Amino acid sequence: MSRPVLEVRDLKKIYGTGETTVHALRGVSLTVERGDYAAIMGSSGSGKSTLMNILGALDVPSSGSYLLDGVDVSRLSDGQLALARNRLIGFIFQAFNLIPRTTAVANVELPLAYAGVKPKERRRRAMQALDVVGLADRAGHEPNQLSGGQQQRVAVARALVTEPSLLLADEPTGNLDSKSTADVLQVFDDLSAAGRTIVIITHEDEVSARAKRLIRLVDGAIVTDVRQKRRHA
Ligand code: ADP
Ligand code: MG
Repeated sequence: MSRPVLEVRDLKKIYGTGETTVHALRGVSLTVERGDYAAIMGSSGSGKSTLMNILGALDVPSSGSYLLDGVDVSRLSDGQLALARNRLIGFIFQAFNLIPRTTAVANVELPLAYAGVKPKERRRRAMQALDVVGLADRAGHEPNQLSGGQQQRVAVARALVTEPSLLLADEPTGNLDSKSTADVLQVFDDLSAAGRTIVIITHEDEVSARAKRLIRLVDGAIVTDVRQKRRHA
């Protein structure tokens, strides 16, 4: 088997010192193979955001090891970390985080512009990514001309356009109504079927039910990690 996309061993994260110490992660080990689709669930305060930030190379653990696509993240400088993040991870956030008064296609092109891809090639790849999420016909629309579900699909296209090793989503349907949630989940299903590697943090059973694998965090530790039969809408 090829090397895993994620390989974390005994991750611990401690915030604060002395009396205010919080053990946010208490030794999390997790391997995510290429093509997996995992949902991470847990109640508020269970450590989801802490884990997400470490998996996304936005924060470092207090101890433990973390390989992202075979790269030991703990050994990288801040600059190298930023590069690894941009190259290897596509982020999807609850709040979409699109740039206002900027067309969908220009939003999707942005990570390619940072990566130094030439304008013509940028446009071609951004249109292709918009096509994948079913929004090629909305390329010229600005965020305020799109529904919430459409905005989130543009954000998914933006996450995809750099061909990252991992799509990492934090409550991606948290701001969406049920119709838009269904549309976004369909996009994740399609991406998973196309072989993408997806890790999604969610509170919602209807969202986690679509993943191939369900991981539950309680008080900073993984208590269950099971394969599940996929339920399709
Ligand atoms: P979740 O996302 O599952 O709600 P978090 O990862 O945000 O959980 O938080 C896990 C624990 O760590 C909580 O007890 C929280 O109060 C604590 N925590 C999170 N961030 C910080 C921080 N920057 N400083 C101190 N404690 C924190
Ligand atoms: Mg959180």
